[in-house]
Formats: sequence, C-alpha cells, structure tokens
Amino acid sequence: MTALGILLLLPQLLLGWLLADFLSGVLHWIEDRFGPGREHWPVLGRLIFTPNIIHHADPTAFLRTGFVERNWTTWAAVLPIAALMLIALGSQVWIWTAAIAGAFASEIHAWAHRKTMAPRWALWLQSIGMLQSPRHHALHHVPDHRRHYCIISDWVNPVLDHFEFWHHLEQLLPKGLIR
Ligand SMILES: [Zn+2]
Ligand SMILES: [Zn+2]
Repeated sequence: MTALGILLLLPQLLLGWLLADFLSGVLHWIEDRFGPGREHWPVLGRLIFTPNIIHHADPTAFLRTGFVERNWTTWAAVLPIAALMLIALGSQVWIWTAAIAGAFASEIHAWAHRKTMAPRWALWLQSIGMLQSPRHHALHHVPDHRRHYCIISDWVNPVLDHFEFWHHLEQLLPKGLIR
C-alpha cells in the first residue's frame, strides 16, 4: 500500500472507531434509562437490564465472569447492526472498524475497571484515550450515572456532554418511556 493509500485509510479508521464509541453510548444509554423497572422483561430484562443495574451497584461484578459471558450480548447486538450496514452500504473500512471496535466494547469497558486485565499495549492506548481510561469511565459511575455513556474511547463523551446530547434526546421522547 502506498503512503497516500495509508493516509486515506486513517480517516475511515477514525470514523469507524468514533462511530462504534457513539453507538456504545446509545446502547448503554438505553440500558441505563430504559431498563430500570423493566428487569422482569423476558430476554432483555434478564440478559441486559438486570446485569446493567448490578453493574452500577457493584461495578466489578462482571469482571468475575468469563470472557464469553462478559461479551456475548455485545456480539449479539453488534452482529445484526454491522450486517445491516454492510448490506446497505457495502464493504467499507469504516464499517469493519466500527464492527471490530464494537465487538470489543465490553472488554474495553472491563479494562477500564481493572487495568491488570488489560494487555500492555491497551494500557498505552488508554493513556492516549483511544481506549477508554479508568479515570474517564469513573465519571459515568458517579451517581446519577447520567453522563459519559460511551465506553470505547475518551474522545466522544466530552463532545456529547458539552452539547448535553443525552438530555436533549430525552426531551424528545414521550414521558414515562425512560425512568
Ligand atoms: Zn451506566
Ligand atoms: Zn462501568
């Protein structure tokens, strides 16, 4: 690949990474704001909403599970979203980047909770914010858990929080939909 080719690739890689981070925030926001009170729901309640509520109460509980148990619900969400995008838009570097980053969102989140689980290269990526750093993620765990929903990098949350994105989104929704 030529230097120009690599140069043209970088924006696509960055776009995919940031898109995955944003979508991780959307899914996490749904879990946090739609899930409470709906833990009894079949499938989503047991597999998504309940573990999410437990995570706020006991943030390190999910670190005591295995790799597959910690990640499979994320894969179940990423797979159809990525497949739909690939079918609709064709094979694009930014979609593959987003799919791969999204598939590892839960594990990146785990590394933000326990640095000792992260490989050495991941610690370096945390230090530049490409992977979410423990200090950054800790801001989500400050009650009432209403900011820093994105869990892949340190780069998207400040922009969304600056524009009060989640607050404005919630204003658009019918009352009673979110808790
Ligand atoms: Zn949360
Ligand atoms: Zn967390």
